[in-house]
Amino acid sequence: MNPNSQNIEQLRADFPILGRQIYNRPLVYLDNAATTQKPKCVVDAIADEYYNLNANVHRGVHYLSQQATELHEAARIRVKEFIGAHSEREIVFTRGTTESLNLLAFSLGEWLLGEGDEVIISTMEHHSNIVPWQMLRDRKGIVLKVIPVDDRGDLLLDEYEKLFTERTKLVSVAHVSNVLGTINPVDEMAEIAHDKGCLIIVDGAQSVPHMPINVEQMDCDFLVFSGHKMYGPTGIGVLYGKESLLSQMPPYQGGGEMIKTVSFEKTTYEELPYKFEAGTPDYVGSHALAIAIDYLEALGMDNIARYEDELLRYAMEQMQTIEGMKIYGESDKKDAVISFNIEGIHHLDLGTLLDRLGVAIRTGHHCAQPVMQRFGVEGMARVSFALYNTKEEIDAFIAALRRVQKMF
Ligand code: PMP
Repeated sequence: MNPNSQNIEQLRADFPILGRQIYNRPLVYLDNAATTQKPKCVVDAIADEYYNLNANVHRGVHYLSQQATELHEAARIRVKEFIGAHSEREIVFTRGTTESLNLLAFSLGEWLLGEGDEVIISTMEHHSNIVPWQMLRDRKGIVLKVIPVDDRGDLLLDEYEKLFTERTKLVSVAHVSNVLGTINPVDEMAEIAHDKGCLIIVDGAQSVPHMPINVEQMDCDFLVFSGHKMYGPTGIGVLYGKESLLSQMPPYQGGGEMIKTVSFEKTTYEELPYKFEAGTPDYVGSHALAIAIDYLEALGMDNIARYEDELLRYAMEQMQTIEGMKIYGESDKKDAVISFNIEGIHHLDLGTLLDRLGVAIRTGHHCAQPVMQRFGVEGMARVSFALYNTKEEIDAFIAALRRVQKMF
């Protein structure tokens, strides 16, 4: 089904929460970059698995354990197909983008990076793609370099190229900024990184749910993303990595599942991807994530991207009619995320008053304080769209903005 204004109500019916009232007003949920709502098929899959076939995976010879294992491993193959990976051995399940990035910082920190080696990130990174590298800097003395952003919210690619030296080993960048909405040219950035002999990690937390992604085409070495931002459950995420790299990297956590043999003298590790999956995995979450992927693919990622782009354009147009509106991030290549401030109104007051009118938005630093510093503000308000939002909801948001503005 292609989301459009004709069938959107039918599609919205898949998401029971969207029918809720907040302070006796219909919910207008515009905080999708933080997390998306879940279709009934995803929630039903979770309930069904707990009710009917719950058992720990990879261990039991019994029927339930085998069934649960089959679902868990089928989910891995589903994720592999969804992002165009080469092999399911390249798909590691984690708790989310943050854990995937911490795993990479630790494991690449052990294997690839030594004192004085350089890692390039960008000004528009989420804290989860900054802090793990700073922790590694404290442990090992690596050097962090930062790609600057221009006033429209685009990365300065010339400056990016200039950052490389013979000590640069790794680039780690967001595909889509969760503040500015900028869609970074990661294909081109990967080509540049590889030309310089470096690896590249792409943070796909804000892109994988909204556009077709193919890791082979992008030629990233690693891609990380979260289930909960793509209509799946919270607590499950993915680390994709090229097999040739993952196979050389040391494990991140130790414990059950990730070993072949253990004795007090020596332990040997499992094959990929289990080497990186210590402990009981979220096998219910992985299956429910596969159901979310089925849901997305039935709609078509191209169709979702096109529909959300319509919403973005409409919202940008409407928002620009509000007096005192300042929008941060006006790249030509922009995803459905709009951060803004309105002159004379603190973003927190704005969020609180909009909430009273049933409109849920995000306010604050959006876990990206360096972007706030770049644009000289302490915080911003943000609306972000998903496949179930409508132009009518944008109208309701704009009407609510005008009402709040009148109060000041
Ligand atoms: N990177 C980006 C670009 C994000 O938007 C987010 C979530 N806001 C994260 C990383 C972290 O994701 P999670 O909290 O699901 O680990």
